[in-house]
Amino acid sequence: MAKKKKPKVDLKTFTVKKCPYCYSHLTVNANRCDRCGKRVGPVESSGWAKKTVDWKAYITAAAAVTLFLVYFWWAFMR
Ligand SMILES: [Zn+2]
Repeated sequence: MAKKKKPKVDLKTFTVKKCPYCYSHLTVNANRCDRCGKRVGPVESSGWAKKTVDWKAYITAAAAVTLFLVYFWWAFMR
């Protein structure tokens, strides 16, 4: 029995992609949404743009939590 092949989608056939944040249509080469201003990645086979990871926001949040914990320890745990 032959192996079942996944249907391959040629990403070059896409001319638009959908913003995963506000569901508006963008051109396939856009890396930022015109409507909501969020960064979007390349188009996926589903026709949606990939969500990009916002590392700066993650690092800022992690630093804020760490600072809070250090402050908490400094203020109450000594
Ligand atoms: Zn958007």
